[in-house]
Amino acid sequence: MAPVPEPEAFDLVVVGAGPGGYVAAIRAGQLGLKTAIVEREALGGVCLNWGCIPTKALLKSGEVYESLAHLADYGLSVEGRSYDFTGVIERSRKIARQLSDGVAFLMKKYKATVIDGVARLEPGNGAPKVIVAAKAGGERVLVGKSVILATGARARTIPAVGLAPDGERIWTYREAMTPTAAPASLLVVGSGAIGVEFASFYRALGAEVTVIEALPRILPLEDEEIAAAARKAFEARGLVFRAGARVVGLSRTEAGVAVELETEGETERLEAEAAIVAVGIVANLEDLGVEALGLAVERGHVVVEGAGRTNVPGLYAIGDVAGAPWLAHKAMHEAVACVEAIAGVGGPHIAAPIPACTYASPQIASVGLTEAAAKAAGREVKVGRFPFRVNGKAIASGETVGLVKTLFDAQTGALVGAHMVGAEVTEMIQGFALAMTLEATEDDIFATVFPHPTLSEAMHEASLSAYGRQLHL
Ligand code: NAD
Repeated sequence: MAPVPEPEAFDLVVVGAGPGGYVAAIRAGQLGLKTAIVEREALGGVCLNWGCIPTKALLKSGEVYESLAHLADYGLSVEGRSYDFTGVIERSRKIARQLSDGVAFLMKKYKATVIDGVARLEPGNGAPKVIVAAKAGGERVLVGKSVILATGARARTIPAVGLAPDGERIWTYREAMTPTAAPASLLVVGSGAIGVEFASFYRALGAEVTVIEALPRILPLEDEEIAAAARKAFEARGLVFRAGARVVGLSRTEAGVAVELETEGETERLEAEAAIVAVGIVANLEDLGVEALGLAVERGHVVVEGAGRTNVPGLYAIGDVAGAPWLAHKAMHEAVACVEAIAGVGGPHIAAPIPACTYASPQIASVGLTEAAAKAAGREVKVGRFPFRVNGKAIASGETVGLVKTLFDAQTGALVGAHMVGAEVTEMIQGFALAMTLEATEDDIFATVFPHPTLSEAMHEASLSAYGRQLHL
């Protein structure tokens, strides 16, 4: 019989080192908690290694390449253009490694004990015990006064209809990030952020891309008007969309893949060299022993209240494993609130509005209610709009696609939602997020000075426009 390992005591044990887990470990270190963090794969989780960061690297390569086709618009020219796909992928992997190394540095700096292994939970005297099958061999038993579950999520697959990766031609976001060659034709199943970002990247490199969406419109979580404007801009770049078409079968052919679509009872077959399955994600809750703890789980995610508290004493959950929205910045925000609650510092946990960003060309960014959601909630709103085509900086930059849309409560003037499509809007949405967090009204935004010339002036103008006061239109 293997010897029973000596328990190791910590104030806090974090399971998972994605943006939720590693930020929790940093804040815990700042607050003087003795912390261990367990990770089975790579520090930084999906975000740094297989998500947010490496896709932004790929998208940048795509954008630069695509922009070369429009040099004449700027009075410039070069002879020919080409890309080295291996170089594009290697740049993205290198950036992911650099950031993962950065997390290792931060863990050292904040004195977190990093344990490379697979964790499971067992009932303990207070918080659950964390048993780790260490990669270095053997088991370790970590006893924390508190435990944070930050195990994240992975791509949803539906093997019965072939919506599962085969590692060669049928990809999830993981395989789509490191193929050996760029496909000449690509089918993308799902028009959420993952589908649209990869569609944008491969189109930039010249692939024939068709995006298939079961719901009647693309980017179903975004404001309808903004999603429609985004679709128009994507179509101008040659992307093809099939909305209201459910993929009911995906299989390999000799040359690549074939999907079977169902549109209002009709079935159809499309073929391409490769396919990306981007139909949502599922929380990583398997093999953790949460059933034996009686952990409350609803619709596939851990039920939490306040700052990540679960129904199991001493156990907290943050990020994707604790439910929507499945965004890295939501996980980081929850991490700080959770650790501060554990340490007994900071004020009450206040839910801040969470912006959403999609980094395609053009970009899409939003915060707060969509117009449809405001109406459904019975809120009367004043709606403002301002197109980038009349914004001086956008015209000077040759990036006039898109618009800003604002929603203000008709009674109180509070900003309740902001939606944008266009160049750099993911960098600008923070202005509206801050305004909403500070409960700004239209007057506060009118009184704010926006620098000229900037794309952000369209945010000011869209706010003015909700009250019929826009200046440049
Ligand atoms: P998603 O849930 O956002 O979108 C999936 C889409 O697939 C939905 O619109 C759905 O209607 C459609 N769909 C489902 N089954 C289908 C079928 N059989 N045929 C056709 N369409 C079908 O999921 P995602 O894009 O996979 O992203 C997963 C999560 O990761 C999301 O929550 C997203 O917010 C997050 N993410 C965010 C970013 C970002 O912030 N930039 C980037 C990538 C991923």
